Amino acid sequence: MTKYIFITGGVISSLGKGITSASIGKIMESRGMKVTLIKLDPYINVDPGTMNPYQHGEVYVTDDGAETDLDLGHYERFTKAVITKFNNVTSGQVYNSVISKERRGDYLGKTIQVIPHITNEIKDRIRKGAHVSDAEIVLVEIGGTVGDIESLPFLEAVRQFRLDMGFENVLYVHVTLIPYVRSADEIKTKPTQHSVGKLREIGIQPDILICRTEKPLSDEIKEKISLFCNVSKDSVIEARDVESIYQIPLVFKGQGLDKIILKHFGLSYKSTDLKDWKKDIVEKAIRPKHKVLIALVGKYIALQDAYKSIYEALNHAGIYNDAKVDIRKVDSEDIERFGPAKFLKDVSGLLIPGGFGYRGIEGKIAAIRYARENAVPFLGLCLGMQCAVIEFARNVCGLKEANSTEFRQKTKHPIISLLEEQKKIKDLGGTMRLGVYPCEIKKGTLAYKVYKKGRIMERHRHRYEFNNKFRKLLADAGMTFSGIYAKKDLVEIVEVVGHPFFLAVQYHPEFKSKPDNVHPLFRDFIKAALLIKR
Ligand code: GLN
Repeated sequence: MTKYIFITGGVISSLGKGITSASIGKIMESRGMKVTLIKLDPYINVDPGTMNPYQHGEVYVTDDGAETDLDLGHYERFTKAVITKFNNVTSGQVYNSVISKERRGDYLGKTIQVIPHITNEIKDRIRKGAHVSDAEIVLVEIGGTVGDIESLPFLEAVRQFRLDMGFENVLYVHVTLIPYVRSADEIKTKPTQHSVGKLREIGIQPDILICRTEKPLSDEIKEKISLFCNVSKDSVIEARDVESIYQIPLVFKGQGLDKIILKHFGLSYKSTDLKDWKKDIVEKAIRPKHKVLIALVGKYIALQDAYKSIYEALNHAGIYNDAKVDIRKVDSEDIERFGPAKFLKDVSGLLIPGGFGYRGIEGKIAAIRYARENAVPFLGLCLGMQCAVIEFARNVCGLKEANSTEFRQKTKHPIISLLEEQKKIKDLGGTMRLGVYPCEIKKGTLAYKVYKKGRIMERHRHRYEFNNKFRKLLADAGMTFSGIYAKKDLVEIVEVVGHPFFLAVQYHPEFKSKPDNVHPLFRDFIKAALLIKR
């Protein structure tokens, strides 16, 4: 019988529910169980693909090409779960399919209502995600904060789940905040009491509380929370702020959370510890020997979540190379205003992430030129690669007008342009080149040295491609096209020889990096950066 753990959040948003869910997944894996994680998102968009990063943060792309919530990135980084389009359910998808079924006549004669039609669709999708994963434990995170209007149908569906599946197969975990009030020098439990009260109004009594807090929870506080929230004291888990997110599974395991969960489900499973995770990841993450400064030039730098997977991949590369990777977040428009040297003269590496639209592009191109001419290790991702070839075409090949047709439709030198098949597309949602594609790597290149193999699989999310009409010209001027998607002869990797590390890719390697399995591109980029003496 599959076991389900539902994770809700209370009091405020940004409590780290995603990392909490991923960490619970990790400790259950440490018990030898197979887990999967599903995210329920209450917004009406079918997927986050059409949202601005400032609205939503990063769009995380899975192997099968789903554009999903960034929490799914945490799930893949912390656990062995293979995340697919079945792991992210939005209100948009749910309503979309209920309305299509109604039009088809599937519910003939009935009035379509939130209960039971919408809630049934939600439950079906949870069960479908569980079924395709074949997991023993399915963790389901409900987006938003308890009390939001939007998430009500999801919470109602989740309430019914225990009725449908049986008490011993369903567990409710509530992540909450215990704020510290400086003037009183006290931590306060009242917001948590109210939030749990709100959940109970809906009919959900949480079994476990994960309490985010700056200060330790004393026994007395735990007793109070236990009494007022009707949760046993052992199940009041302290989640104090930590230095590295990768410590959280250790924090939970240290308080016996895995045992509490197994006991509820009536399971006894072998226990393996998290010794390697502690030694190879956590200790390296919090006590690194070296230090390196990397500039990330983008246009969504004000929001921590916009480049989540990139920051994490850099973090993993730091862990691998025993170095703290400090990231200088540079607004590409500032480079347009003040020039690149001001921001880049003291860094050991430059990373240009993906993005859309013209704003900030010229700053990115100027930054890449600076890195190329001054031997600063450079890694370009997606739009970062497109900017790198535009820069090379303009400043090395003398094609002054070189541009992407995304930014200037009628440019004389469309170095980056749309494939014929993309030109026909009218809808903008879910129609980019998405998901995993193979790429053949030429022997003797930097890319080959990094990957140590001739064929790789990487995830994509873009519409525009390198225009092969310009390939020979750029190659003759010294650009190496080291990775190609053979079936359509599309450029996937470019590099510049005679530079310590200059490599850019059309895909998104950041989505496949894990703390215990760092992506080789990030690993070697940081390795190269560490060799730069500053
Ligand atoms: N805007 C570019 C394209 O659509 C790059 C996309 C990206 O960086 N993810 O091709």
